[in-house]
Amino acid sequence: MRVPVRLVILGGGPAGNQAATNAARLGADVTVVERDVVGGAAHLWDCIPSKAMIATGAAIEFVERAPGMGLAPLQAVIDAGAMKHRILSIEDKLRGSIEALLADQGVRVVRGTGRLSGPHGVVVSTAGGTEEIEADAILVATGSRPRIPDWCRPDGDRVLTTRQAYPPPTMPEHLVVIGSGVTGVEFVHMFASLGAGVTLVVSRQQVLPKKDPEVAAALEEEFLRRGVKLLIGARAVGIDHEDGGVAVRCDDGRVARGSHALLAIGSVPNSKGLGLEEAGVEVDELGYVRINQHCQSNLPHLYAAGDVSGKLPLSSVAAMQGRMIAEHVMGMQAREHRHLDYDKAAQAVFTEPEIAEVGVAEAEAFATGRKIRVTKVPFSSNPKALINDDARGFVKIVSDPATGIVLGGSIVGRSAAELISVLALAVNCNLRVVDVVDSLLVHPSLAESLSEAAE
Ligand SMILES: Cc1cc2nc3c(=O)[nH]c(=O)nc-3n(C[C@H](O)[C@H](O)[C@H](O)COP(=O)(O)OP(=O)(O)OC[C@H]3O[C@@H](n4cnc5c(N)ncnc54)[C@H](O)[C@@H]3O)c2cc1C
Repeated sequence: MRVPVRLVILGGGPAGNQAATNAARLGADVTVVERDVVGGAAHLWDCIPSKAMIATGAAIEFVERAPGMGLAPLQAVIDAGAMKHRILSIEDKLRGSIEALLADQGVRVVRGTGRLSGPHGVVVSTAGGTEEIEADAILVATGSRPRIPDWCRPDGDRVLTTRQAYPPPTMPEHLVVIGSGVTGVEFVHMFASLGAGVTLVVSRQQVLPKKDPEVAAALEEEFLRRGVKLLIGARAVGIDHEDGGVAVRCDDGRVARGSHALLAIGSVPNSKGLGLEEAGVEVDELGYVRINQHCQSNLPHLYAAGDVSGKLPLSSVAAMQGRMIAEHVMGMQAREHRHLDYDKAAQAVFTEPEIAEVGVAEAEAFATGRKIRVTKVPFSSNPKALINDDARGFVKIVSDPATGIVLGGSIVGRSAAELISVLALAVNCNLRVVDVVDSLLVHPSLAESLSEAAE
């Protein structure tokens, strides 16, 4: 009888648990070591609580739009306790379903903090002592944590990290958000829609510096309309406590004052203390494990996935890497569609309006001189958008003028994160714009703007 491959996984977030269930399904003997809860930071601190609070904000905005829907004005009142309870119960349900899935596949979960004891071993500190586990293959999927600069000490009260804001002990009257990447702008939107005043400190010349300028401009315009103050081109260098609030000092002398400050300036990998260097695993200067296209480190049996691998820090990418690793560990040739092209990952920003992008962006193609065809239609002529009383935003499709293949697209507007799936499929499967045009879509639907843009 063949002895099953022993796979040990450090971390039960999206990367770890997807690798675990898939490898076990394929016949591996899998152990997951998790110091906190399966589901990972993604469920406890990041994707799920942030989107749950954004959904509460959206409910408030929906109520506020009552007159536009033919209703008498309504008023929503926030219940912070109920909001917290709702977040915890969503996390609880998700964790329960992952635990059940792992159990169904016969995956052993060891509660404790793990580290490598050598290239083929893991040692776990558990409540009851230590456990040594031998492995044929090891996956490091320990995620990341918020980056805290040396000029600031979050106290969980007035100065918050993203992990202390679901919701904070006191709801901010005025929140100063430091950092204008995806996480920063989502927190701006979240707290603005919950009724707080918000100032956003933007170190670059536009919010969402890595995104298409037209997309970023649409968000800036909406923020300004909602009374969000933007400090463009200001880099935060210090935070002082004053008069029961905070003052965020910037390098150009400007000061942003508020009741609370929130840091959203990126993350650092959880790779220290794992025994990586001692086992001969290469990490880069920032602490990310160096991996190849199969997510293998320089030791072929030692894989890394998710945020600790330093690729795109998205839950969806972490999960896909995990599934791919499961197949690779089991000696299967990665299926063609499992070959991860990080440039083709769909990404969303859960703001109002919602933003989603995939593949080649217009500005990026312009900067590199690549020949593209761009078509754009606004939602203002879409029947469903008018029915929804929300016709903000647009759909933009980028294609190859020679072949008609869809290279990318951007959507700004309601349900952008759902609608982008059509373009993501087109980009990942090399479909042509004519394929999008020829798809018979539901009427009335926001998706009709996709085929209109493709025409
Ligand atoms: C505020 C915020 C919102 C986000 N929203 C989204 C979103 O909407 N969509 C999206 O796709 N991505 C989102 N992300 C990114 C997403 O959360 C991460 O990319 C994702 O969590 C990475 O998954 P992972 O498996 O690498 O790590 P994690 O989810 O961080 O899981 C790692 C696990 O490893 C465990 N661990 C660490 N060290 C050890 C050890 N030594 N021993 C045992 N266990 C250990 C941890 O306890 C944790 O459970 C968001 C991020 C932030 C900060």
